[in-house]
Parts: sequence; C-alpha cells; structure tokens
Amino acid sequence: MTQPLPDALREKIKQRLSFYEDLKIAPFYRDRPSAMPRALSLETVATLNSEEDMTLPKPAPKTAKTVTSAPSAIPVIAGPRTATPPPAVPPLATRPAIEKGIFPSPLKTSNFFELLERVENDTLLKIREDIGDCTRCKLHKKRTHIVFADGNPKADLIFVGEGPGADEDATGIPFVGRAGKLLTQMIEAMGLQRKDVYICNVVKCRPPDNRQPEKEEVAACSPFLSRQIDSIAPKVIVCLGSTAAQTILQTNRGISQFRGEWLEFRGRKLLATYHPAYLLRNPAAKGEVWKDLQKVMAVLGLQAKKGKSA
Ligand code: SF4
Repeated sequence: MTQPLPDALREKIKQRLSFYEDLKIAPFYRDRPSAMPRALSLETVATLNSEEDMTLPKPAPKTAKTVTSAPSAIPVIAGPRTATPPPAVPPLATRPAIEKGIFPSPLKTSNFFELLERVENDTLLKIREDIGDCTRCKLHKKRTHIVFADGNPKADLIFVGEGPGADEDATGIPFVGRAGKLLTQMIEAMGLQRKDVYICNVVKCRPPDNRQPEKEEVAACSPFLSRQIDSIAPKVIVCLGSTAAQTILQTNRGISQFRGEWLEFRGRKLLATYHPAYLLRNPAAKGEVWKDLQKVMAVLGLQAKKGKSA
C-alpha cells in the first residue's frame, strides 16, 4: 500500500514540479530521463526524489498502482498546469521601501519572487546547465555567447548589471568593455579584486545596438538571476543601473529616487547605484557612486585602496 504523503511534503513537491515546469525543463530528473512518465502521482515523485533532503514515507512496493486519476496527480512535462499555484510571496525586499514611501504599495508580486521562493539547493552549475543553448527570448537570435557571470561563487558582494555589450558578447565574460574596466577600477578602489566578487547581468544575451532589454526579455531571463543570487547568498547586492534595480525590486521608479539607500532583499542588504556606462557619459556622477561604494565597504569591513577612488 502506498502511504499518504504529509501535506507539507505534498505541497513542497508540487511547488518543485511547478518550478521546473516554469523553466520548461523536461524531464527534470536528468539521471532518470527514460524512466520519467508523462504524469506521476506525488507519491511516485516522492519515491524518485528520495536522494534529496526530504523526509519521505516508505517507498511504495513495485506492485503498487500509480494513482494518476487521483486529485494529487499532476501533469509534469506537458499540458496546462493543474497544480494549485503557490501562495503569493510578499516582496520582502521592498517592505522597508514601502514603509519609507519609496515604492508604491501594494507592489505586484511576480513570477520572479515566486521562483526565488521555491529554489532550494540550487547550484551555479545547474543554473548554467538549465540555461543551456537558450532560446527563451528573442535576444538569442543575434548573440555570440551567453554571458553567464564572472567571479567568486562564494562572494560576499555581487554586482548586477543590465546585460552584455559587444565586448561581453564576443568574449562571454560580463563587464570587460570600457564600462567593465571602470567597474574593475571601482572594485579595486574598494580594496578588492574582480575575483573576490561575483558579477552578472539581468539578461544573459546582448540586446542589439545596446538597447535596454525589453519587458518580455527581462521576464524570460530574470528567473536565472534570482537563482544566481540565491545560490551565491551574498551579504550585499549592488545593482548597477535602473534595469537591475527595477528588476530585483519590482518597481518602475527611477533609480535616482532610491540610489544610495540601503534596502533589503530577502534578508540581504541591497544598494542601487549608477551603471559604469552612465559614469562614462557623466563623469561628474562618479563622486556619488564612490559614496555609495563606501557604504558597501563599511558594511563589509573593507578599507579603500590607498590613492584610489572610483
Ligand atoms: S537573454 Fe536569457 S532568456 Fe533570453 S535567450 Fe538569452 S539566456 Fe535565454
């Protein structure tokens, strides 16, 4: 006899299946591709999932029937989703900002936060594998390389930019062009090196003519960013420019309204500042950015490199 699953475990499995569906990963257990039926009961999934950190009931005997017609059976690979969607996750990052009146309230929760809530034990390697040779948005058509990230996967500090430019597209490494060189100088002025921090972008493929990524492109790619942030678990997130800040904070407000203010993102400190490309066009804003970076340094206990400032 198959033992009934505890409600909490049932809900956890539903959420995980839903998460993999969102990423269009099929089949999602890569070591069992041929054994994956198109529809499984939650009890069967729990058995397959027994290598993971779940508290499981005893595996069902081989003769037990897979109950696909019961209310708990949900389609895994194809077809419309029938699982009950998870409850909306409050936008934790923006609570302090709402209280301060920086952002409108209530903020719209999005797939970005729902996905983030459901990620567990994600690794950067798996995220990159899941991106694969991605065609989820039209930016794939003209890209040369997917630009995933650079730096330390255990960094305390993560910089999030908008998207790759021509140099990044050519090399597959984020922030290596003129703006990237300026970012490297900023990092070194903070007493760090590039290899000490983690650098990535909201979209992983170059928008043509360096235009801003469109809403649909951000929506398609930002789940990977959320998983990167969750995997790195940095102490501080620095958003470079409005696209990164607006994507993570889920706001349409201009960056100048909250630049340099400490905000919270899922228990981590977040600060938005100007993008280095903006500083190349407006060198007078460098002083403001350096003040922002000094706030980050204070939190991380960093000393400025002698004779250097951004
Ligand atoms: S930008 Fe992101 S979602 Fe779009 S094709 Fe590239 S990797 Fe895929």
